[in-house]
Amino acid sequence: MPELPEVETVRRRLLHGLHGEGAVRGARIVIVDVVDPAVVRSGALQRLVGRRVVDVTRRAKWITLHTDAAVKLVVHLKMTGDLHVVDAADANSARFVRLRLFLDDGRCLVFTDPRRFGHVDVTDDANSLFADLGPEPLDAAFTAAALAARLRGRRAIKATLIDQRVVAGLGNIYADEALHRAGIDPRRSTLSLTTIEIHALHRAIQEVLYGGIAAAEKELAWRYESRTAASPFSVYERAGLPCLRCGTTLASTSVAGRLTVWCPHCQR
Ligand SMILES: [Zn+2]
Repeated sequence: MPELPEVETVRRRLLHGLHGEGAVRGARIVIVDVVDPAVVRSGALQRLVGRRVVDVTRRAKWITLHTDAAVKLVVHLKMTGDLHVVDAADANSARFVRLRLFLDDGRCLVFTDPRRFGHVDVTDDANSLFADLGPEPLDAAFTAAALAARLRGRRAIKATLIDQRVVAGLGNIYADEALHRAGIDPRRSTLSLTTIEIHALHRAIQEVLYGGIAAAEKELAWRYESRTAASPFSVYERAGLPCLRCGTTLASTSVAGRLTVWCPHCQR
């Protein structure tokens, strides 16, 4: 499942272009082709016709295409969604296409999604979709104190971290990675964390996310389709393998219904 770093990489690709794939910013949408109507959660896609894309932003795992009018396209990639800009001539050959936005420069923005969990909203008020989300972990406002203020209750710290109301965009992979980096046992009660541990966790969250973005941009990110590249992760899907820091065999359990991997030696 794409998490914040992978979604941020898609955003940057659409905004600036990446690896030879051009940016969508500045292009005008001339035809909207809803290939799979189930992908539309709310709004009228045809409102986008004639609009120019002026910005691409991310909130948690949503990507918003802003236009030269109030109307915006908000995309949630969910498990397997992806957005690519291709030549219009190639827009028919892409697989698992759910939505196509033909652009005035002969290209096409294609939303693909093999498993069809992704969806789009067309709205003037994207923020209303994000009302329940916690702070962005890479925003300047997300300080250690801001994190501390949100760490409440007795549930496992892993369960707290993947709660989108606590921190937006942190999922199963990067929660495990951050806890390993911070040396904190994922099963610990949230309120048992000391101030020093919260500071370490705050730093670890930002470090693993920035590391994830760098890896995704270098296309080292472990693709959910082809797991051929070396894994950039320390614990994710490494249960039973040696800890990269101390060599202890990594343990796994279920926390909040999610597979959780940790090092019994490094994480206390
Ligand atoms: Zn270890």
